[in-house]
Amino acid sequence: CSKREGGARVTVFAQEMYSNMLRAIEDRKELKRAIAEEEFVLWYQPLVDMKDGSIYGSEALIRWQHPVRGLLGPYTFIRLAEETGHIIEIGNWVLRKACSDFHKFQEKSSRPLLLSLNVSSKQLELPGYFDLLTRTLQETGMPPDHLQLEITESILMSEPALMGPLLQRIRALGIKIAFDDFGTGYSSLSYIQKFPVDTLKIDQSFVRSVVDSSVNGKIIQFIMGMSEALGMSVSVEGVETEFEATTLLGFGCRIAQGFLYSRPVERETFFGLLKRKSLIPSEVIRIPAA
Ligand code: C2E
Ligand code: MG
Ligand code: MG
Ligand code: MG
Repeated sequence: CSKREGGARVTVFAQEMYSNMLRAIEDRKELKRAIAEEEFVLWYQPLVDMKDGSIYGSEALIRWQHPVRGLLGPYTFIRLAEETGHIIEIGNWVLRKACSDFHKFQEKSSRPLLLSLNVSSKQLELPGYFDLLTRTLQETGMPPDHLQLEITESILMSEPALMGPLLQRIRALGIKIAFDDFGTGYSSLSYIQKFPVDTLKIDQSFVRSVVDSSVNGKIIQFIMGMSEALGMSVSVEGVETEFEATTLLGFGCRIAQGFLYSRPVERETFFGLLKRKSLIPSEVIRIPAA
């Protein structure tokens, strides 16, 4: 009897494996079609100066407008895109699209805006990336000093000896480099010096519990001190409450992204945000700093 049960279990596993495999093949086909049919859209989330609520720039965040499954967030497909190499084409599309959108943003703002893009290490590893980048900037008229590329620590998995000089060349164009999700990786602090980085984007996990964990507060203060010593700037992700904003301002943080100010929105909605003087929710009354 127990042998039969075991056999049945094996069959269930086999079936599950088989259907997972079919699903993976299907997902790949779908991704390929999505690229061909341009089913992707870019949403934008404002980068905000927490002091006055003014918009400092925006981060482009990809979504997949799936014909059947609806609007899909990047967590559902970026990993597969990286595994299958499709991230190259998707990343190229993001770069071109965001740089083309930028002019319309800048037109509507009285201050110089920053455009921040997520770049996969798979893209940077591609030998032609630098040329593609410069060509796209030229063709779209994107001013390089308004562009920021966000990279993650996974870049350390690729050749640091190649990545350092590449980032240096990119920076020489005036483009800024930011370390995304900073603080969540496994690497030691020494690598920061090895990489030419302008900005550290503190991961939202540190912000999330800054209210009830003094440890996270101390980590943020530590990052602030370190960035100052290294001449880097800092921005914070995932600010959801006024209390978090006030706490972070107290630590000397200025630039933030978070649902408190705005969720990522469609391009047209972002135009509307640019018209507003401040994204600080109006019911909030700030006690002026001494
Ligand atoms: P990320 O670059 O760290 O982007 C920030 C993520 O945090 C976004 O999720 C954003 O919607 C979310 N977020 C912002 N403020 C808050 C907040 O106050 N609370 C909470 N709970 N979340 C907040 P999203 O759009 O789902 O993107 C997820 C990740 O997908 C991004 O994380 C980035 O790593 C990746 N991604 C997005 N677009 C691209 C792209 O064009 N290329 C590549 N390679 N990766 C991308
Ligand atoms: Mg990012
Ligand atoms: Mg991030
Ligand atoms: Mg993140």
